[in-house]
Amino acid sequence: MRKILAFAARLCATAIAMSASAARAQQPAAWAEPTEPFEIVDGIYYVGTKGLASYLIVSGDKGILLDGTLKENVEPIEQNIQSLGFRLEDVEIIINSHAHFDHAAGIAQLKADTGAQVMAMAEERSALEKGRHEGDNKYGATRFPAVKVDRALKDGDIVSVGNVELTAMHTPGHTKGCTTWATSVRHGEATLKVVFPCSLTVAGNRLVGNKGHPAIVEDYRKSFDRLQSTKADIVLPAHPEFVDLFGRKAKRDAGADDAFVDPAMLRKLVETSRAAFEKELKAAKK
Ligand SMILES: [Zn+2]
Repeated sequence: MRKILAFAARLCATAIAMSASAARAQQPAAWAEPTEPFEIVDGIYYVGTKGLASYLIVSGDKGILLDGTLKENVEPIEQNIQSLGFRLEDVEIIINSHAHFDHAAGIAQLKADTGAQVMAMAEERSALEKGRHEGDNKYGATRFPAVKVDRALKDGDIVSVGNVELTAMHTPGHTKGCTTWATSVRHGEATLKVVFPCSLTVAGNRLVGNKGHPAIVEDYRKSFDRLQSTKADIVLPAHPEFVDLFGRKAKRDAGADDAFVDPAMLRKLVETSRAAFEKELKAAKK
């Protein structure tokens, strides 16, 4: 796990380091590599690429799309939605984990193509509407297409379509408005809690003297505490390798019905991220 997180953190940091065009040239190939969509649990589908997650959460024929990933991934995401049997206009709401280009750059085009409402944490609104993440990052800023936010959310707000309800948890640190989403699904006889955690990595964020995000250290620590005590039976992150999502899919397809269920996963992710964060903070203070 430690290795996987370190790898993912390095990817995010590396990508943020570069201008949009350079990032495209050097970003991991898997980020823009299309893959088949699949159902994870009842009503929750993976519609992203091999390296960047986008999730479609549906009730009947209406859905909520979480994350737009890269600009060039709009086409494969839309194809995935359609190949599952949905129309683009069935996507009624688009939400975001956080306003970094690798999770938000496709949202403007997806909004235009689907006609969906974009809903985002109030603290992330200006970053999305300016098309640039806020807070000081040692690699500088990476721009992405700006998108208008139709509804600004606060912690605890619920976004719903049909019978599906997603609760927005404000878990700042990685960005000011980093949003962890939570919902419940039926799985056989059980009701499972599904959590989409906002990225927990440092990824080049300045932890000391961050003028654009002065409370960054307290924010990270509060979010680690909160997420550590959050119940999650299934964890679906913005970077699928954080939980070996495709390995779990292979196991599920081979007959392990509970391959995505892992109630210890969120706590493990938070512990690893907290240790990496404290180590970077100590180094930054020297
Ligand atoms: Zn990020």
